Amino acid sequence: MARVALVTGGTRGIGAATARALKASGYVVAATYAGNAEAAHAFQAETGITVQRWDISDFDACTLGVKAVEAALGPIDVMVNNAGIARDAALHKMTREHWDAVIRTNLDGLFNMCRQVIEGMRERKFGRIITISSINGQKGQFGQTNYSAAKAGELGFTKALALETARFGITVNAICPGYIHTDMLDAVPADVMEKSILPQIPLGRLGRPEEIARAVLFLASEDAGFITGSTLSVNGGQYLS
Ligand code: NDP
Repeated sequence: MARVALVTGGTRGIGAATARALKASGYVVAATYAGNAEAAHAFQAETGITVQRWDISDFDACTLGVKAVEAALGPIDVMVNNAGIARDAALHKMTREHWDAVIRTNLDGLFNMCRQVIEGMRERKFGRIITISSINGQKGQFGQTNYSAAKAGELGFTKALALETARFGITVNAICPGYIHTDMLDAVPADVMEKSILPQIPLGRLGRPEEIARAVLFLASEDAGFITGSTLSVNGGQYLS
């Protein structure tokens, strides 16, 4: 029987490419989004992938949302924690709201979602948890104390959960993308991209969402069954850890 995959933030950017790739590989897929209903409905119409709206920073909304997805599609085998936001500012200018929004979405969201699926995965003795962290959680980034802290926290969470769940046939891994061409990068001015960002990337280009999606597909596959607690860098050589 086809495995069921849930991709948070699966209606745009990396998440949308991942949801599409999982569907093309035979998974039954659901995707979540936060508020951009226009993009989500266009994505659903184009792909036939079920979309559901809830805020992953809200634990109770995650409980209800996961229940609804599982009632419609069956137990979740593959959880892709992709939804994330950035609210950049140097610490001396960062507001409490910027800090809270990023920690709540990226880090609390990871707990909120994994907590919903982990008991079922343990009972069924199978699960794949794949979290989209970031190069900036590995190396730090100017103006991103909030984002770098959340993304580094995701890596610690991944390793700890991998240790807890290995004996239940569950693997837990993280992917650290470098700069990937999605809406998130639209906020970066063109001259900053040309003069500051591209020169840092040995492969000389931005990554494509599909390149992250293929890494997710691999980690979700049976072939990756001996990989757990790992961090896979997909960054064009920008940071070698
Ligand atoms: P996008 O901004 O293109 O898409 C983000 C997706 O997450 C959207 O579907 C959005 O929903 C959803 N989302 C945001 N907040 C919430 C929330 N609170 N609850 C539920 N869904 C939410 O992001 P990217 O594709 O660029 O990034 C995806 C992931 O990859 C993120 O975790 C990001 O940090 C990480 N990453 C991205 C990099 C890049 O260069 N793009 C580099 C390294 C890491 P809606 O459409 O409704 O807004």
